[in-house]
Amino acid sequence: MALLLSASMGLSISSCAVASAPASDDGTFNIVTSFYPMQILVMNIADGIDGVSVECMSEPNLGCIHDHVFSTEDLMSIEGADVYVENGLELETFNDRILSAYPGLQIIEAASRVTDAPSDEDEVNGHVWTSIDDYVLEINEVADRLSEIDPDHASSYRANADAYIDRVTGLTSDYSDVLASLEGRSVLVLDETLPSFCVYAGMNYTTIETDHEQSALSAGDIRETIEFMTANGVTAIFVSADSEADIANTIAEESGAVIYELNTCMTGEVTADAYIDQMASNLELLGAMG
Ligand SMILES: [Zn+2]
Repeated sequence: MALLLSASMGLSISSCAVASAPASDDGTFNIVTSFYPMQILVMNIADGIDGVSVECMSEPNLGCIHDHVFSTEDLMSIEGADVYVENGLELETFNDRILSAYPGLQIIEAASRVTDAPSDEDEVNGHVWTSIDDYVLEINEVADRLSEIDPDHASSYRANADAYIDRVTGLTSDYSDVLASLEGRSVLVLDETLPSFCVYAGMNYTTIETDHEQSALSAGDIRETIEFMTANGVTAIFVSADSEADIANTIAEESGAVIYELNTCMTGEVTADAYIDQMASNLELLGAMG
């Protein structure tokens, strides 16, 4: 068992696009994002800037981009992009296909400044946006790179980024009491998006590789997990609010632990405040951990 202890809108880019005119010729700076969390991030940075559009390659309820099978339709949705924004850290595995179709397309890897991504021996967990600290690094990276690539709008990108960072970091100060209560607590994590949240909150987490699906856990995994939790006094389980909780329920019943269904900021409504709303609701819920 891989049981791991860790201490710790504008213009629409149509998929039936007309001819493949050079990207910059339509007078709009077209930003295409890989998936939902990047779309929400860039919507904030590009908010209200004339001549800048933000689109997303994938549907908001795709789930995780790391499971995504890249398609011709995806390729079409990037047509006309001036820049492509992805999370990086190996969540998006199809850059070679994008670059072979659109050589010279600028790709921004939002997570390139993140140095504390969770990992086990052989794999980095790139789902870092659930750490508010890492998310701020992503906002700054995207704003700085957009400003280099599209200097005409640099001051607007920076002003928007600063305003967004103020609001995002406001979560840390607004919920400082909750975060203080979480620090040092031990939790079982059953979704790959949530270890980064635990790092941010200073929690000790045990995670089991689930590929976002608890159903991937075997009976042996579950038994060993329950034994581990009992032996180590782990009394909380974090799961994604989007996933089936059957396995978590079994573990909770056997171990006496409490399940917390958290937002992953990986799916949801396409609104600029989606990240802030989802994280605030997580911190509210965790305030009840006591
Ligand atoms: Zn994933």
